[in-house]
Amino acid sequence: MQFIDLGEQYRRIKDKVDKEVINAIESGKYIMGPPVKELEQRLAAYVGRKYCVSCSNGTDALTMPLMALGIGEGDAVFVPDFTFFASAEVVAGVGATPVFAEVNPDTFNLDAESLERSIEKVKSEGKLTPRMIIAVDLFGQPADFGAIMDVAQRHGLLVMEDGAQGFGGTYNGKKACSFGDVSTTSFFPAKPLGCYGDGGAIFTDDGELAERLRSIRVHGSNPTDKYDNIRLGLNARLDTVQAAVLHCKLDIFDSELVTRQRAADCYTASLKDIVETPVVPEKFTSSWAQYTVKLKSREQREKGIIRLKEKGIPAMIYYPCPMHLQTAFAGLGGKKGDFPVSEHLCDTVMSVPMHPYLTSKDIETVCMALREVL
Ligand SMILES: *Cc1c(COP(=O)(O)O)cnc(C)c1O
Repeated sequence: MQFIDLGEQYRRIKDKVDKEVINAIESGKYIMGPPVKELEQRLAAYVGRKYCVSCSNGTDALTMPLMALGIGEGDAVFVPDFTFFASAEVVAGVGATPVFAEVNPDTFNLDAESLERSIEKVKSEGKLTPRMIIAVDLFGQPADFGAIMDVAQRHGLLVMEDGAQGFGGTYNGKKACSFGDVSTTSFFPAKPLGCYGDGGAIFTDDGELAERLRSIRVHGSNPTDKYDNIRLGLNARLDTVQAAVLHCKLDIFDSELVTRQRAADCYTASLKDIVETPVVPEKFTSSWAQYTVKLKSREQREKGIIRLKEKGIPAMIYYPCPMHLQTAFAGLGGKKGDFPVSEHLCDTVMSVPMHPYLTSKDIETVCMALREVL
């Protein structure tokens, strides 16, 4: 069994993908060819934003808005403590300071009350200027944007949605990657919408910001004079070939969301009496980037993973180490005990195989194996 079966998906769309990839190669327009622009229009329409700026990966998608909004030294950016490293890495990468906040133990997403306490602490210390909140749609479920936007408004902060895992999820009838001032996603192969390499996208309704992002994408170029550079930028374009692949995958994306939901429902029905299954509150839907359960202890999880491995079932730990205890952030002075919820999740979560092509037999095999150990 595979953790994510991209081969099965490829078999479904092979004819189309092969044709579109060859077309892209034969066109000779390897860089920013027509499929890139067309994809941006489709993606913006899909999530319900005015502008989409595609880019090289989900990490650059987070970095570019920080650069475009002038966030840097002396600025505080608030990030959930339980997330993938990139969500916080990009903040330090532009010279600003990531300030962590606790997550909700059930949804794994940024906790608005803890966020507000972190903001107030930074304000009262008076050393850093609070500028932005990065809210992550962890495991496919949008963050609690109702509460987070309230906090942001009260404190005059920008909001960036890290929708690397969230693409396809919804909150209050609105699609992930449509929240906050700017939102981002990743097309890394294992994400809900993945390509066959690296890719990413940024979404906003702010035309001026979109313009700056397009400039940053190509070395800070001047849109009206290609040999003039008006700022420092990156080389951060999405390849034409990857855009061609993404068109084919976007065509079937909604049908995959249906089968992901079906797989999640099967898991939940069969596991809810032995582990803590994922909680998706009313008004939210998840794109099920991961199906993540909580076990009783680190020891029980260790046993579970070994047992599953013996049966050829891959299980993963997303994530074993919280942001405040990452070695790279040791300079920020985080210590064990600072964020108990996040630390506890790191000790007890386990993600099981999840993709649109899981059979009910696969799910039964995973659940039976877990039932045996627990
Ligand atoms: C994967 C991921 C990223 C980074 O995306 P890449 O395309 O791998 O650079 C950022 N944030 C989160 C939450 C992610 O899961």
